[in-house]
Amino acid sequence: MTSAPEAPDLPDLNFDPDSLRDRYRRERDKRLRDDGNEQYIEVKDRFAHFLDDPYVEPGFTREPLEDEVEVIVIGGGFGGLLAGVRLRQAGVESIRMIDPAGDFGGTWYWNRYPGIACDIESYTYLPLLEELDYVPKEKYSYGKEILDHSQAIGRKFDLYRDALFQTRVVDLTWDDEAARWIVETNHGDRMRAQYVAVAAGPLNRPKLPGIPGIEDFEGHTFHASRWDYRYTGGDSSGNLTGLRGKRVGIIGTGATAVQCVPHVGEWADQLYVFQRTPSSIDVKDNPPTDPEWAKSLGPGWHQKRMDNFNNLVSGIPQEEDLVNDGWTDLIGNLLVGIRKGKTQDFSPEGMAKAVEIADFEKMESIRARVDELVEDGDTAEALKPYYRQFCKRPCFHNEYLATFNRPNVELVDTDGKGVERITKKGVVVAGQEYEVDCLIYASGFEVGTDYSRRAGMQFHGKDGRTLSETWADGVRSLHGMHVRGFPNCFLMNGSQAGFTASYPHMLNEQAKHLAYIIQTGREKGLEAVEATTDAEEAWIAQCIGKARDTGDFFENCTPGYYNNEGKASERSAQDGFYGGGSPEFIRILEAWREAGALEGLETR
Ligand code: NDP
Repeated sequence: MTSAPEAPDLPDLNFDPDSLRDRYRRERDKRLRDDGNEQYIEVKDRFAHFLDDPYVEPGFTREPLEDEVEVIVIGGGFGGLLAGVRLRQAGVESIRMIDPAGDFGGTWYWNRYPGIACDIESYTYLPLLEELDYVPKEKYSYGKEILDHSQAIGRKFDLYRDALFQTRVVDLTWDDEAARWIVETNHGDRMRAQYVAVAAGPLNRPKLPGIPGIEDFEGHTFHASRWDYRYTGGDSSGNLTGLRGKRVGIIGTGATAVQCVPHVGEWADQLYVFQRTPSSIDVKDNPPTDPEWAKSLGPGWHQKRMDNFNNLVSGIPQEEDLVNDGWTDLIGNLLVGIRKGKTQDFSPEGMAKAVEIADFEKMESIRARVDELVEDGDTAEALKPYYRQFCKRPCFHNEYLATFNRPNVELVDTDGKGVERITKKGVVVAGQEYEVDCLIYASGFEVGTDYSRRAGMQFHGKDGRTLSETWADGVRSLHGMHVRGFPNCFLMNGSQAGFTASYPHMLNEQAKHLAYIIQTGREKGLEAVEATTDAEEAWIAQCIGKARDTGDFFENCTPGYYNNEGKASERSAQDGFYGGGSPEFIRILEAWREAGALEGLETR
């Protein structure tokens, strides 16, 4: 993505690009805050109960373990599962999966709020479809199907064997003499492993807004990622009978809120939705899977579809749009523009102009849809997003906007300022108190804070130096995966790695990559592999250089976790995703494996 250029000369536009650009900037400026990520509260101490697992009986105990396995995989979501699968396929038998949850599933284990679904197309999002001989039931899966699929992967590849659930890794220490990691957990385990693969999840730690008075609220409260069905009744398909007679507040209007608001609005007596920035809400057509189409799929169809989608959303034109939805629309519109001769200038600047115009057109249609669906004019106005489509996570929903037509549902727009205060009884915005019985935080997850804090574990590498210390001035890695001083540790992290809108796509590439290295290590009889200083330096420099490709775009965006809450800096260039785009990043990894030299890794 590129910076905002001059308005091109396009006579048939029914909007003025200059005034839209001004409006976007004003909306961004209104939301910029000095405290950036510091505005959020870490969920610990008196807020720790917000992390409790509602799906298991409390008080689980077991005897601590002191054994050894070849690979410990930390995380039982798609990242960990894919690592486990690719390692199994590479012939590794001795694998132990560890996760704080009660089962596999990761984000789909924790997030079971009413309406939960994935609005990335299921045929591209769900991993390992061909391996499991499974075609999802609909174009967009509901959460339950994805959770079931995660567990089916675990069964199919025998990953439940040796798995430890309800177990949180708290500390990892490298024993350089023995070339083993010592992995300690909240159950007193002290296990050993030659390799560790860490797939702790990009959005695993719920966060709370640092709103004054947050600890004063005396009603019922929880974070949407730990939905309390004992209080609300019902399940992820709705039927929230416990909310009858209740006044409910939801703070946040991101992808989570967009999906649960219609259900809460249907059952609560009164719902207040507290909004800081409106989401972009596009159409979601969700047809059931055509069984004939499913039967017609030939070998390799899944990777081909994933690549097609990833290329399109990365702005790389494809002969065919296999997914054909709101995600791929933008590039589709651009291609239509090119075909119609709207775009004549194919220089990078010319293309940037064309992309910006296609983006304006897309967002104009998103805003027009709000007017079509929302009856009250002021509410409709407040629900319109004024920023470029990929500044924030685009959302797709057919009921969210119309929910605001219900007499019992009120949008409380904070004009970009956020909630002012929380009291014993409710929420204050612009001096007015909204009393509620239940307050639900749909306020997202930690991004951009210290990696070890988010992962909930500390790493002690060679000489006892921690990962937090090593990364104190910014992420240091080769390919986002290896860190000098931390041999045999593979991070499946986003920093300095490619970003794919369908997140499991990148996790799959990282899993293939680490399985290749471990397999090669076995073949060559290696004890340890570690990034060299030179390779790490070169990769960091490449990442900082490439960040300029996306830096201007995000600088002009409304704040959010996509742009480090609006605080772009050299540090965020270093800590962010690989700026050359995920297709390029994937090619780099593939070429590296094809070369077969483990280049940039010191081996022993
Ligand atoms: P987000 O971080 O996207 O949203 C958090 C919300 O809380 C934002 O609307 C934010 O406003 C708001 N907020 C934060 N602080 C305040 C405050 N002080 N006052 C008022 N509002 C505040 O979290 P989500 O859980 O919604 O989504 C996280 C990610 O999970 C998504 O981006 C997506 O990647 C994934 N997801 C995907 C789904 C799917 O496939 N459909 C469904 C759900 C989640 P502001 O925007 O102004 O910061």
